[in-house]
Amino acid sequence: MERQVILNLKNIKKYFPVQSTIRMQPRAVKAIDDVSLQVYQGETLSLVGESGCGKSTTGRCAIGLLETTSGTITYRDKDITHLKGKEKREMTKEMQMIFQDPYSSLNPRMTVGAILEEVWKIHKKPGMTKKDRMERAMEMFLKVGMRKDQYYRYPHEFSGGQKQRIGIARALMLEPKLVVCDEPVSALDVSIQSQILNLLSEIKQERNITYLFISHNMSVVRYISDRVGVMYLGHLVELSSTQELYANPLHPYTQALLSAVPEVNPHRKKQKIKLTGDIPSPLNPPSGCVFHNRCPYAVPVCSEAIPEMEEVSDGHLVACFRHEAY
Ligand code: SF4
Repeated sequence: MERQVILNLKNIKKYFPVQSTIRMQPRAVKAIDDVSLQVYQGETLSLVGESGCGKSTTGRCAIGLLETTSGTITYRDKDITHLKGKEKREMTKEMQMIFQDPYSSLNPRMTVGAILEEVWKIHKKPGMTKKDRMERAMEMFLKVGMRKDQYYRYPHEFSGGQKQRIGIARALMLEPKLVVCDEPVSALDVSIQSQILNLLSEIKQERNITYLFISHNMSVVRYISDRVGVMYLGHLVELSSTQELYANPLHPYTQALLSAVPEVNPHRKKQKIKLTGDIPSPLNPPSGCVFHNRCPYAVPVCSEAIPEMEEVSDGHLVACFRHEAY
């Protein structure tokens, strides 16, 4: 059965201008540089990579929280790249975000119940009464594993895991079809992380939601994703099904990321790939393949030309001139 594309990012660029003196040429941080990506209905697609690789910026551009510098974004068959006003508000109902730090995304002066009800106050629905709003909010509050008696408490009275549950409830209030989860468990204790991941999986099954999941944690990504995209310095360098990526990583950067994941089996020895040098500045990225100054397999052409994403097996794409050589 052919999979339906829910979100299509085409040649997305996001440059942040940097203030410079009058004499200097205008400069920009290239947070995303020509990323193309399709997200399928009902899947969990994860974006991984080091801090500053552009994964969160991609997620924010995808749902219109940030305006792109160029490129097009299509949701179902609608071009949503430059939506404004009412049209943008309507699209917000379809696409929501779960943030990394749940506390800073919850208003400390409001009870959590009021925070949830406020969503429907902003996105008014004809005929919806105060009682309807409260019923919906309470239903969602219980759905994410909270208790009825906690509804009138304030955000500071909850633990990190509970706050993230409330953040999830708020993101789901409008019954979105696509949710961007931006590092939703990285601020939580390990024991709580699995509870939140299981909650996200349960909700996805039940409501046929699509997730664009952003994380730097390869173990978390393996657990939750159907497909994984690896990003480096604003570029997508590899994209594949989760199983294939973990069994057969092709890009040297993906191989290095996976080699750094601790081995659970003490009898199995893993060869660690150490990357030399620092991640370059996105203000002045290297020419050609942006990974060439850290890549153990680089050859002269790598600093001269930019490798295109190439499909090397069914659904497995990689951007590397030498993926067959090692
Ligand atoms: Fe390394 Fe060259 Fe491949 Fe880039 S294109 S990852 S520098 S071998």
